[in-house]
Amino acid sequence: MQKYDITIIGAGILGTTISYWLSTLYDLKICVVEKEHDIAMHSSTRNSGVIHYPFYLDSKRKKNFARAAFLSHDMWKVLASENNIPWVQGGTIEIALDEEQHKTLEKYMVLGKKNGLTEEDISILDSSELKKKEPNLSCYSGLYCTKEGSTNYGLLTKTISELSKNNGVSFLVKHNVKYVEETSKEVNLVFSDKSSLTSNFVINCAGGNSLDVAKKFRLLNGYSDLHFRGEYWVANSDIANLVKTNIYTVPRYTQFPFLDPHWIKRANGETEIGPNAVPVDSPEAYDSFITDISTSLSKITDIVTGSTKKLLLNPDFISLVSKEFLSSISKSAMVERVKKFIPAVKPENFPKRGTSGIRTPVISPDGDFVSEMIEVEGKNSFHIVNYNTPGATGAPAYSAFVVKKLQKKGILKQPKNQKNSIWDFNKIIEQA
Ligand SMILES: Cc1cc2nc3c(=O)[nH]c(=O)nc-3n(C[C@H](O)[C@H](O)[C@H](O)COP(=O)(O)OP(=O)(O)OC[C@H]3O[C@@H](n4cnc5c(N)ncnc54)[C@H](O)[C@@H]3O)c2cc1C
Repeated sequence: MQKYDITIIGAGILGTTISYWLSTLYDLKICVVEKEHDIAMHSSTRNSGVIHYPFYLDSKRKKNFARAAFLSHDMWKVLASENNIPWVQGGTIEIALDEEQHKTLEKYMVLGKKNGLTEEDISILDSSELKKKEPNLSCYSGLYCTKEGSTNYGLLTKTISELSKNNGVSFLVKHNVKYVEETSKEVNLVFSDKSSLTSNFVINCAGGNSLDVAKKFRLLNGYSDLHFRGEYWVANSDIANLVKTNIYTVPRYTQFPFLDPHWIKRANGETEIGPNAVPVDSPEAYDSFITDISTSLSKITDIVTGSTKKLLLNPDFISLVSKEFLSSISKSAMVERVKKFIPAVKPENFPKRGTSGIRTPVISPDGDFVSEMIEVEGKNSFHIVNYNTPGATGAPAYSAFVVKKLQKKGILKQPKNQKNSIWDFNKIIEQA
């Protein structure tokens, strides 16, 4: 049986960047186990591809997400430019449709400054300034962030995985962790084909399955999760440049982790609208509402008996979910939502669907959506759950924070030095 010092579950952007830091700082036997046949097959490729900059993130409730997104921006930019990965810094305008929403933009200006942004990075434009910049946009005002843009996170993840492999990390694809056996000194991971490996320490970065994996270690038992598919429609080339900047809208319900569909300028030059947030039964139900009867029944049981049931009694949540559902079965309903700020769009301008992705927000035992990622330590394991947007943007800095935490806990020794690396670990930690 193979034996490793550290095993990471999940070769998405988080597991892969953690493997990179570990392999530049230590000479340990490290492997990443991934159930699919390749790296970054789920959220890390199936996302909006937006490089966020934390003007809208609460520096207390989302401290780690905000700091990581701020620090990671330039780290990704270096990697993208050295590897010819598309990086388009066209900016984002977050728009307000009325005076009430404008107050949220004013709050964002304060939050943005707390998160380290300057007046060069963010400014509020009134409707006439916006008309000059984007004549086809219709709104009350907008917060313009110059640093946001688009990239391809799937390619960035693959590039980092190659660097990790060069440092000696093994990526074991088609290895689906089914069972976990823990002793006082090590963890035995058993895969669906009944093969297994032993590791001194395990880091759970299993994305939409991370809560299920944590529960296999008997952790986070009072928590539950929901899966929401985000769908996109691709714009015809004749209307793709109607608006040249990413457009986001102020969220209607701040207590829920969903936004209205955006106007997204993809790094490949295409324009898409989306994502909505349609409830589905698994983190991989990309084409249907249910995966199979047993998955559906198990999710329904989870909802009815778990912490999610409080949400079902919340009329705002039910109204939001039904609207999202409608925009899944009807393209016109989705386009109608975008028409509110780009009046010229019509359903026939969006002939094909884009690549959908699934977000998995976690619900606390009290029945509320959890705002930050959850970090929890087991006997010989560390788990990162609820690693949602803007997780792709923040992955290089956040994964350095995780490694630093494991050092502080004494799980990892202080490293002697860092091998030749594209990013400087000590510099990131000093700025954290
Ligand atoms: C629709 C959508 C839009 C988004 N837009 C943006 C955006 O514009 N900008 C941004 O910064 N972020 C965005 N995000 C968030 C971002 O994509 C995620 O935060 C990030 O990709 C999460 O990375 P991860 O590595 O944790 O998860 P994943 O990429 O899902 O990786 C987890 C991996 O674990 C593997 N795995 C799971 N279970 C097992 C098991 N039992 N055994 C072995 N392997 C297992 C999976 O196969 C998967 O490869 C978006 C997300 C979605 C879904």
